Amino acid sequence: MIYDIAIIGAGPAGLSAAIYGQRAGLNTITFEANVHGGQIINTPEVENYPALGKVTGVEYAMNLYEQATGFGATIEYKGVTEVNLKDEIKTLICNDGTEYQAKSVIIATGVTRRKLDIPGEDKFLGAGVSYCATCDGLFFKDKIAVVVGGGNTALEDAVYLATVCEKVYLVHRRDRFRGDRAEVEKVLKNPKIEIVYDTIPLSIEGEGKVERLVVKNVKTEKTTIIPTSAVFVAVGLIPQNDMFTGQIDMVDGYIDAGESCKTNIEGVFVAGDTRNKTLRQLVTATSDGAIAATAAAAYVTK
Ligand code: NAP
Repeated sequence: MIYDIAIIGAGPAGLSAAIYGQRAGLNTITFEANVHGGQIINTPEVENYPALGKVTGVEYAMNLYEQATGFGATIEYKGVTEVNLKDEIKTLICNDGTEYQAKSVIIATGVTRRKLDIPGEDKFLGAGVSYCATCDGLFFKDKIAVVVGGGNTALEDAVYLATVCEKVYLVHRRDRFRGDRAEVEKVLKNPKIEIVYDTIPLSIEGEGKVERLVVKNVKTEKTTIIPTSAVFVAVGLIPQNDMFTGQIDMVDGYIDAGESCKTNIEGVFVAGDTRNKTLRQLVTATSDGAIAATAAAAYVTK
């Protein structure tokens, strides 16, 4: 069978593309290597999606899944490992060896969290080191936790962890946050969060589990120890585009496409965080999905 649209990734961009593709009367197939929802399932509270009010990231992901499958979208829970996008009929090969063909492809592979690359980070993964505050925060109820980073993710993680932990240190390498003003203000007025500016983490240490984070102030060069049970790493994102290297134009690892979501290859579109863009948020991911699927539908039915 040749699908009209193959969508790689079932996050907000991919599932929005599935909704628009199905509603255009096309047969879509969406591939997901993990769970549907993408990065948003790690978000404690979505509060900046217009007219949505406040929902958790997991609630949002479940609603999106119900909506997409309600329109007949099929999700295959397998990873796409290899693609051939140059031919008119595109080929996708999955990690179980199965092969799929489609007239058009929407890449919505998203991003993963960047690592700190310091001693102890790998050793204590699952023993105090985490990349997901909402997934692992409760393990550190009434304990001390550190969040590293200065973007929206770190700010939101710190606010969420302050609801669970006794105290939260927010370690940021500069004296100004990258995240939105509204999130910064929540952090500043939270008495359980102590901000440690101008500071980088050097190593994560402990006996069998995280017990302390060694940090250095970049202005004074002074090294100090923060006693903690957990280190939550929130230092940015890495696009998941390795399998497209050499086939598609990219900018700094992100797939190059303007607001049309069209890549340099006919019939191949990109949506969401993995596109080269200025604002990576839920609202831009879903709108990319809509634009990419509409463009794919026009391409397929031309
Ligand atoms: P980000 O915005 O790229 O911020 C990464 C932070 O980590 C920066 O503050 C950066 O410091 C710091 N950093 C990077 N490498 C580091 C290192 N090796 N050691 C220490 N610190 C390091 O990443 P993000 O917070 O994950 O957000 C990613 C995107 O998702 C952004 O566009 C963000 O706006 C969006 N997002 C939106 C929401 C929302 O709208 N509610 C929620 C979460 C994320 P510098 O500032 O010095 O570079």
